[in-house]
Amino acid sequence: MDFTNAEVSQAVPSEEELQHAELSFRTSLPDNGLGLQDIQHHILTDIAPGFTGASRSPNYYAYTTGAVTDAALFADWVASTWDQNIQVHLPKETVATAVEDTTLRLLQQLLSFDETDWPGRIFTTGATASNLLGMALGREFVVAEAGRRISAPYPTSTAKLGVLDACFQARVKAIQVLTTLPHSSLYKAASAVGIGRDSVVCLPLSDDEPWRFDMEALGQYLSNGAVSIISISAGEVASGRFATNGEEMARIRALADQYGAWIHVDGAFGLQARVLPHTEAYSALTEGVSGLHLADSITGDAHKLLNVPYDCGFFFTRHLPVQQAVFSNPGAAYLSATALPIPSPLNLGVENSRRFRALPVYATLLASGRLGHVDLLARQIALARRIAAYVAASLAYELLPDAALDSVYMVVLFRARAEALNAQLVARLNASKEMRVSGLPWNGRPATRLAIGTWRVDVERDLGRVVRALESAARGHV
Ligand SMILES: *Cc1c(COP(=O)(O)O)cnc(C)c1O
Repeated sequence: MDFTNAEVSQAVPSEEELQHAELSFRTSLPDNGLGLQDIQHHILTDIAPGFTGASRSPNYYAYTTGAVTDAALFADWVASTWDQNIQVHLPKETVATAVEDTTLRLLQQLLSFDETDWPGRIFTTGATASNLLGMALGREFVVAEAGRRISAPYPTSTAKLGVLDACFQARVKAIQVLTTLPHSSLYKAASAVGIGRDSVVCLPLSDDEPWRFDMEALGQYLSNGAVSIISISAGEVASGRFATNGEEMARIRALADQYGAWIHVDGAFGLQARVLPHTEAYSALTEGVSGLHLADSITGDAHKLLNVPYDCGFFFTRHLPVQQAVFSNPGAAYLSATALPIPSPLNLGVENSRRFRALPVYATLLASGRLGHVDLLARQIALARRIAAYVAASLAYELLPDAALDSVYMVVLFRARAEALNAQLVARLNASKEMRVSGLPWNGRPATRLAIGTWRVDVERDLGRVVRALESAARGHV
């Protein structure tokens, strides 16, 4: 086992490797330490072979993971070595907060969000944390807005008064989150910020297109007396499809303004589609992410398609004062940052002490440039579409949610036509250990999902491997 970012062929360890790794753990604390060399040897030769190849194998397609570019890996090492704490902007001590701020602006440039319109920006631990921020800001905004609309005698800020009192003063009876097929973390976020899991309501257009909004139902829910956060699934987890198009986003914006609602976008992996050129081949994708600048807050993941190490997500909002109202860390004067050009991160998010997550992002953005990121995503989509085309044309398999190849992003969702094969398809495909996919229900029946998220993608090589696996799994079933 080497200590580099080299490619490995196995998507997951063998049974033996897993067993060996498990038996090798030191489960009692030694009185005398092992020392650096022994512990290095122990970790690299005993434990690491028991790790998933999600990042280092090009053929790990389960869930939605990413990989790590060499530039990001290098910068991650630097971030740990210098061990900067990115919490307070201390320009006389370190440039680290300035680097983080610059990196977030570079990211906004990559994803075409105007830096001036989106002054609220922060790195988080991932899309789950970013969704939590989105729900927290949305809750603050919608209850304050309800108070303004009834001319409450003072601001009905949940950050200040708490949910109960603020809602009481603003005469808010319920806060609801209106969405379509959200990631599970949206429910967690709703729970954690006091909105409640049961307040998340899905408004699917139809059984055939459940990732899209039923716009009529959305209008009805917005006028039902509750205050609302609208959460847009820009890159639906199972299918990779987009909840809205540009025209629908404009209508949703108008509705949100009318009813004092907040629009949050969960674009954990979908946001990356904003790097794509506006060509015919990508029109379904670029249309799916157009109009997202009309939202109030946005979730993105960097440890997925941006290919930096875990854990790293980001959050943008157009409402910096709302972000500061919720997350300000009141305290010692030396922590006050109001007058500084770069707001201290401890006033913008959950953590005070924070890892230098920005540096790997900075490194990978600059090392590859805009065109490098376009090319990377284009190759991922090319592989997904070639696999999807094979699936759509095959007798054994059926492409989901429909046969629209030009809507395929970097996710291929499908099932076997034969029930017996379908029931064990994921297990069969994963049996070789050379490739890994995951399963999930789609329209109430088992489906197989293959998601591409690595810079290691090689379209011809990987297509061959996937097709061989699909053919071998279907043998005897057509
Ligand atoms: C992965 C994902 C999340 C959760 O992200 P973490 O990085 O695991 O916190 C949220 N939303 C969507 C759409 C995702 O794909």
